[in-house]
Amino acid sequence: MDKVIITVAPTGAWPSKKDNPNIPLTPQEIAEDVYQCWQAGAAVAHLHMRDDQGRGTMSLEKFRETVALIRKKCDIVLNCTTSGDLNATDETRMAHLIELKPELASYDAGSMNWMHNSVFLNTPQFLEKLGKTMLENSVKPEIEIFDAGMVYNSFFYQRKGVLKAPLHYQFVLGAAGGSAATVENLVYLKNLISPEATWSALGIGSGHIPIMLAAIAMGGHIRVGMEDNVFYAKNRLAESNAELVARAARIVRDANREVASPNEARNILGV
Ligand code: ZN
Repeated sequence: MDKVIITVAPTGAWPSKKDNPNIPLTPQEIAEDVYQCWQAGAAVAHLHMRDDQGRGTMSLEKFRETVALIRKKCDIVLNCTTSGDLNATDETRMAHLIELKPELASYDAGSMNWMHNSVFLNTPQFLEKLGKTMLENSVKPEIEIFDAGMVYNSFFYQRKGVLKAPLHYQFVLGAAGGSAATVENLVYLKNLISPEATWSALGIGSGHIPIMLAAIAMGGHIRVGMEDNVFYAKNRLAESNAELVARAARIVRDANREVASPNEARNILGV
């Protein structure tokens, strides 16, 4: 089995300081947090930005500042979201990829009802434009899968030449509106994709630990961080994202797999 890539998703678009006062929101906070996670074993950082009121934003200025600060501190692989604000335009969802050229960016392979109160819209036109923009700028898509239909969408865009093999997937389980965070769902989804594809998985909230353990056992990669889960244990908030990364690294080693460095992650992912 390959080494395990630990991705940290420190911020996300939704959790606030009320959910966990330790969540990093400003460019300075995010950069310092990512640096600590890198020291604890994270090879990839999946980045979302917040505006000055703490709301999710696709602000190019915030991405620019944060990416520059992180690149000064460490060699972690950068994975920028393209879905940090449900009201963003197609263009603002891609502008940071064109300017900053992160090695990875999220590619949400379909639409869904989000949290039962809004629509997470990824139109066919947007997915085609996004895939082409990523190809032109050498940004590898991390194809986020919330349900099985999105896997089949990814095959469609691969046949069209908008996505190029080997594909890399992130199975996002436990979002309200998507597939539940169960081991059975992870096994089912993983068996749909090509054997040459690489994949990672995450469970939101209480699905965090079961999905992490299953992904490690199944030969996959893992993602931790406050975007997905602000708790370290039941009724105990995480002190930091690095605390979640350090635990993940311990579990990987206890499971007789090794933690991938950023450069090893680049090799595994072909970026
Ligand atoms: Zn995200």
